[in-house]
Amino acid sequence: MMGRVKELSHLVAPEHRRARLEQLGLTEADHALAVELHDHVIAPSQAAIIDDFYDFLLENDEYRAFLHDPELIRRLKISQSDYLLGLGLGFGSLEYWQGRLRIGFTHARVGLPLSLYVCAYHRMQGLLLARIEERAEAEHTPAEPLKAFVLKIMSLDMSLALETYHYAEVSSLEQSLDDLRGEGEHLRTLATTDPLTGVANRKRVLDEVTLELADSRRAAERIVVLMIDLDHFKMVNDTYGHLVGDDVLRHVATRIQTSIRTIDTVGRYGGEEFLVLLTDTNQASAMEIAERIRRKVGDSHIAVSGLDIGVTLSVGLAEARDGDTPATLIARADHALYDAKTRGRNQSVFHGGPL
Ligand code: GH3
Ligand code: MG
Ligand code: MG
Repeated sequence: MMGRVKELSHLVAPEHRRARLEQLGLTEADHALAVELHDHVIAPSQAAIIDDFYDFLLENDEYRAFLHDPELIRRLKISQSDYLLGLGLGFGSLEYWQGRLRIGFTHARVGLPLSLYVCAYHRMQGLLLARIEERAEAEHTPAEPLKAFVLKIMSLDMSLALETYHYAEVSSLEQSLDDLRGEGEHLRTLATTDPLTGVANRKRVLDEVTLELADSRRAAERIVVLMIDLDHFKMVNDTYGHLVGDDVLRHVATRIQTSIRTIDTVGRYGGEEFLVLLTDTNQASAMEIAERIRRKVGDSHIAVSGLDIGVTLSVGLAEARDGDTPATLIARADHALYDAKTRGRNQSVFHGGPL
């Protein structure tokens, strides 16, 4: 069971997907062709394509052996229709791959031998190519780009179906896919969340800073980071013990989280230090948010284990400049934080001069 989940997660891993798309020559430009194929070829005639397809299958004894039940045919036609309507749309995404793997699974489950599947698939491809030709003639549009796209995208789908057949011990595959989805989400959450406070962890908030620096350059947006450090936190631990200190940290994280906008990110940067990323902001509103955080934490005591504990924090702010890396930007925020500490703590200070 675990082995299969591992194989499938390898199969849909981003680097594997990228490599497969590269092998097939599927690029960003193909997304527009997928939409064109959907809008102009498949959507207008999918019912007719599927009828043609099943007429062909039912003429053949080998296929007929699998298609004796009208109810089964009806259901297969519906899934075939979904299949066609989704063909190529968002082909790089995890969802697309999972969907395509499921289709292979459906065919494996009805017991269709792989050889028949491949031949039927070839037929379906022929029907689509013929429709593309017809449309090209009727509308005087070139057929070649769509035909080339169909060959590539159907090769992708075919390759995924082959993998499904290959990996499928049919009865447990569906379960594996569900497990995989759940497991993936769980791992993603674990890998990006700070276990003590539940806010983003250091890696995640640094990743966000990296992304936002790149984005802000593109969109000429301004971003500000806040480096937050609790004041005299060692005394809280020394007075009440480490476990109480942990609870205080949890409460502080929640208060910070509820003081920022949904577009902003707070992460636990280190022991009692938090890094907040403010996007699309200016110095005045960044300072406002920093002060809101400072007051929300400092203005009312935190109730922990029957105790009422007062803590304050200091904030260093720095605005991103051209050429900043996360390290240079955070270094300036750290510097400002140091200023806030030396000026007496419980305050927010913007980084002044160059560094
Ligand atoms: P300052 O105002 O200069 O920041 O004083 P401080 O006492 O907060 O600074 P210092 O860096 O000397 O100490 C930070 C303390 O934070 C030390 C450590 O006991 C505490 N701390 C760090 N991580 C955790 C944690 O995960 N849980 C608890 N309970 N305490 C922590
Ligand atoms: Mg500290
Ligand atoms: Mg401190």
